[in-house]
Amino acid sequence: MAYVAGKSADTLRREFGLDTVIKLGSNESPLGPSEHAVDAAMATARAGHIYPGVEAAELAVDIAKHAGVDIDSVVIGNGSCDILLSIAAAVLRPGDETIVPEPSFVMYQIGTEATGATVVSVPHADHAFDVDGILAAVTERTRLLYLTNPNNPTGLPLTRREIVRVLDSLPAHVVVVLDEAYGEFVDPDQHVDGVDFIHEARNVVVTRTFSKIYALAAFRVGYGLAAPSLASTLRARQPPFHVGSPSLRAAQAALADNAHLELSQRLNREGRAYLTETLTALGLRVLPSQANHVLIVDLDRVEELDAALNAQGIITRPTGPSFGLERGLRITVGTRDQNERVVAALAGWFSAHREDG
Ligand SMILES: *Cc1c(COP(=O)(O)O)cnc(C)c1O
Repeated sequence: MAYVAGKSADTLRREFGLDTVIKLGSNESPLGPSEHAVDAAMATARAGHIYPGVEAAELAVDIAKHAGVDIDSVVIGNGSCDILLSIAAAVLRPGDETIVPEPSFVMYQIGTEATGATVVSVPHADHAFDVDGILAAVTERTRLLYLTNPNNPTGLPLTRREIVRVLDSLPAHVVVVLDEAYGEFVDPDQHVDGVDFIHEARNVVVTRTFSKIYALAAFRVGYGLAAPSLASTLRARQPPFHVGSPSLRAAQAALADNAHLELSQRLNREGRAYLTETLTALGLRVLPSQANHVLIVDLDRVEELDAALNAQGIITRPTGPSFGLERGLRITVGTRDQNERVVAALAGWFSAHREDG
């Protein structure tokens, strides 16, 4: 199993000779980075001949303050994929097992298999986490359990009660990876802060990223939060100068830019509601997402539909190839204009194809 990146806008421009391409296939921010983040990166680029110095330590201080943990609990990575891989490498040995609810982010499987450990997949129950199924999959050999809150590609969140039930039932030899890549998109009334579980001295590592709501995917900065002993094990495995100074400074500036964060949250909340309502009104089954993407399930002819969207310059993500979820189409929440265009394209496709079906 390898990571398959979403289609790029360049590919589509070349393929169909299009000028504008709407890229809603990779859960990237439609807003772009904070201007402060760009400025910080540019300023650092002028000292690009100097190895990174204090930047990582300073970002760690800010992350610790932001997350409400001690600095010893913070580990900064080259994207959170990097943190996910180093957790697997630090914890797993050949013969161990990890529990991966499916469909979910493919890096859990890649990280597991890189160590010679085995993935035990637990299918979702009607697209939601199957807590009973997850607990039933635990064996003597289980070392890691991956929970994504909210999940990619379903967008569905876990409740505090569900997470607590899992944590209460797990034996001490299982570490829970709580991937909060989309945590900032969750509505306040449904939001669960994974850090609470670290404070309760549970066996939990929280991973977060600057790639999604902070719109810094190209900079490659993510972080993990864990008990100091595990965090220091993870830090000790990293090569020196692991993340570049422009990236670290951009992340630091992004973290301080609350106005940009709130604008992203508002745009996403409005766009997510618009997509959910309009696509549901087209007769489609759209899962109630808490992330920056919506998933349409039980779709017919997804491949044809995807090709028709591509020909109109629209990239979305069929979930068959990348997540093993057939008949699904994941759409990243875009700008208002982008959302309207994707809905119009889908409405057109369905009005043309319902008659003959
Ligand atoms: C996008 C995503 C990430 C973030 O990856 P980065 O390496 O930080 O860019 C992590 N987990 C999930 C579930 C994601 O969808």
